[in-house]
Amino acid sequence: MSFDLASRLKARHGDNLYRQRPLLESPQGPEVVVDGRPMLAFCSNDYLGLAAHPEVKAALQRGVDRWGAGGGASHLVIGHSGPHHDLELALAEFTGRPRALLFSTGYMANLGAVTALLGKGDSVLEDRLNHASLLDAGLLSGARFSRYLHNDVASLESRLAKAEGNTLVVTDGVFSMDGDLADLPALCAAAKARGAWVMVDDAHGFGPLGATGGGIVEHFGLGLADVPVLVGTLGKAFGTAGAFVAGSEELIETLIQFARPYIYTTSQPPAVACATLKSLELLQRETWRREHLDRLISRFRQGAAEIGLTLMDSPTPIQPILIGDSARAMKLSALLRERGILVGAIRPPTVPAGSARLRVTFSAAHSEEQLESLLSALAECWATLAKEDAPHA
Ligand code: PMP
Repeated sequence: MSFDLASRLKARHGDNLYRQRPLLESPQGPEVVVDGRPMLAFCSNDYLGLAAHPEVKAALQRGVDRWGAGGGASHLVIGHSGPHHDLELALAEFTGRPRALLFSTGYMANLGAVTALLGKGDSVLEDRLNHASLLDAGLLSGARFSRYLHNDVASLESRLAKAEGNTLVVTDGVFSMDGDLADLPALCAAAKARGAWVMVDDAHGFGPLGATGGGIVEHFGLGLADVPVLVGTLGKAFGTAGAFVAGSEELIETLIQFARPYIYTTSQPPAVACATLKSLELLQRETWRREHLDRLISRFRQGAAEIGLTLMDSPTPIQPILIGDSARAMKLSALLRERGILVGAIRPPTVPAGSARLRVTFSAAHSEEQLESLLSALAECWATLAKEDAPHA
């Protein structure tokens, strides 16, 4: 008996699925240095360009001076500091919910919420394209786990009809690899008709979506009665780190008592909460960020259509270019890289087999000129790829 890791790794290479980590040698932003080379990046989730915002950085520095470098312990021991408390109050107000609870990462918020709410004898129904952390949470909960077809209310209803016990319908707000929106009004109505609860992970919607950046729930004008469990992450549009769950008083107290990924982990450094409080203020104050982002998205969609690229049905800063074959997606990403443009190729198992893609993302920090550089590089690289595909004469 032995762990044959070498064969597993070799197979991963053979399938064009081997992953490598680019080494970032500069701060986040459109212009980065990666593996020693200056590049223009279109792959970060820093949608509002707040990760390197001077006011956010200054708030973090002041936070370190006042509160030190680390969280020190879990929240229930002695790790729950003033800035965590203030941020929870601010997030509750921002989401219009009685309470919010901070988690150290979005992955843990999802694991914590689902496993605290469900157990054996219950049911969890998930969109089949949900983020890995939601799928893992469903499996870990011990509830009956079932996946419905992507955004398909009829498919959800057929599963709701067979569900037992407390039933939680779980969906991404904005699907992280496709950029499309969950059909929340219809999903919530279907769940409500069967007495099920809805949990939305709006990691990619908070910030870019909604009149005040309040995400998909604000976008559709829904409330606590429609979506009792709302998750947001802070490492994306907020530009910092961590996550939160927002909901009723009872929900948050239940999570404090029963969510193991909340209870058994060190709190995030309080200085990060200081920085996030500043991001939250900027997200609401600097409304031009959302407007600029919307302009970039429209222009990209128009330019990409002219080149003949296949986009997905996405109104968000996530604008994947669908390629299909993993090797071709890797090739296009490599061609762009040669021209100084960084866009990640996303392959199975992150996305379904045969749907490899380039996940282009935009930030309010991108300029219109940078977007035009991306479009012209894409036009050239796409033509090169087409030439390589053509049968040789
Ligand atoms: N949910 C979704 C939809 C995500 O895309 C991600 C991260 N990519 C997470 C949760 C996890 O959040 P975090 O990075 O804070 O762990």
